[in-house]
Amino acid sequence: MLIVQKYGGTSVGGLDRIENVANRVAKARKEGHDLVVVVSAMSGETNKLIEYANHFSSTPEKKEMDMLLSSGERVTAALLAIALQSKGFDATAMTGRQAGIVTDDTHTYARIESIDPTAMYNAIKAGKIIIVAGFQGINKNGAVTTLGRGGSDLSAVALAGALKADQCEIYSDVDGIYTTDPRIEPNAKKLDSISYDEMLELSSLGAKVLQNRSVELAKKLKVKLYAKSSFSENEGTLITEESNSMEAVLVSGVVLDKNQARVTLRGVVDRPGIAAEIFTKLADENVNVDMIIQNVGTDGLTNLGFTVPQSELDNAKQVVESFGHDIQGIDFDEYVCKVSVVGVGMKSHSGVAATAFTVLADNNINIQMISTSEIKVSMVIDEKYGELAIRTLHEAYELDK
Ligand code: ADP
Ligand code: ASP
Ligand code: MG
Repeated sequence: MLIVQKYGGTSVGGLDRIENVANRVAKARKEGHDLVVVVSAMSGETNKLIEYANHFSSTPEKKEMDMLLSSGERVTAALLAIALQSKGFDATAMTGRQAGIVTDDTHTYARIESIDPTAMYNAIKAGKIIIVAGFQGINKNGAVTTLGRGGSDLSAVALAGALKADQCEIYSDVDGIYTTDPRIEPNAKKLDSISYDEMLELSSLGAKVLQNRSVELAKKLKVKLYAKSSFSENEGTLITEESNSMEAVLVSGVVLDKNQARVTLRGVVDRPGIAAEIFTKLADENVNVDMIIQNVGTDGLTNLGFTVPQSELDNAKQVVESFGHDIQGIDFDEYVCKVSVVGVGMKSHSGVAATAFTVLADNNINIQMISTSEIKVSMVIDEKYGELAIRTLHEAYELDK
């Protein structure tokens, strides 16, 4: 088989751990597989590099940030190749560019536009194990770009797609996808399989175990994706197309996103086009608006609420304050979080949302905002009740059973 493996920051977080990864790669090689191995930077390394940059500037040029951040992954790729070579394996390390990854120009959050797999095919044909520095490519001008935080997952899936690999294995410190983050709820259960759509919701709603763009791409390219642990031999979780048996399960998981802030606009003039103006301006300032609620207006005025990532709250403040008299009052709340319940079974069962609201009410947790889709219910609540909400929802849907 041709297998793409990806080892995350914790898995390569020290020389002993790189050694461990080298042993695992060697084992797969001895089993006869062709291997392309994508690596992250050592855990904490990317954050450290960001701090270095912030020592000089709070708004460093993004092009230079990419030059800086892409270095972390190169270190681990080279070290892993050297570790394998020292064990007698023919390994070669490649940057994103050498692996043929071309992106658009959006520095620090680039999109992959194309992959030319020729160099990789040649190396595989020559019997080499390929180690690729994750999280990076180049734009058409040849400048290094990075793919957004957690982007090595995306590198792995994209390479698996381009190489038509038999499967793509994402290794981290957990041995699969759980019903919720096992760090919050120790009774969380590992899932044998989960649909792309459910995984996409979980990732987009805050479960960082897989980067959401990587799941989106895996779905599009039909990449057979596994989440596994680099510290055990346990079976992982298969992320795959939805099957009938999946719909029998009402709720697959619950997820907490602490990185949320709420903005409420009171007394907004109720005229056609005002929402368009506000949200266009927010988009122009690169504020990612998530949940939006608006009520029926009275007396020509209406209330409008929305959430944004905490790091974008200051930007959002500036934008809404620039609307002057069109908005009578503005409230901000940084201390909120979003809890969500996800499951394809919701399509065919009713009452999932009602259960969630009841559970939170029973625990005296006030719901500030609600949004739903076909397969999820999300609620914004006070940040301090986030973990309690996750644990009680987990129990209410019997996810621990
Ligand atoms: P890596 O650094 O290898 O990319 P991450 O830290 O990005 O790994 O992802 C693994 C972490 O994801 C786990 O340590 C776990 O705490 C967290 N996590 C959040 N939600 C889930 C979930 N539903 N199932 C498994 N892990 C989860
Ligand atoms: N090193 C990058 C990050 O920390 C990319 C990755 O690990 O996937 O976000
Ligand atoms: Mg990750």
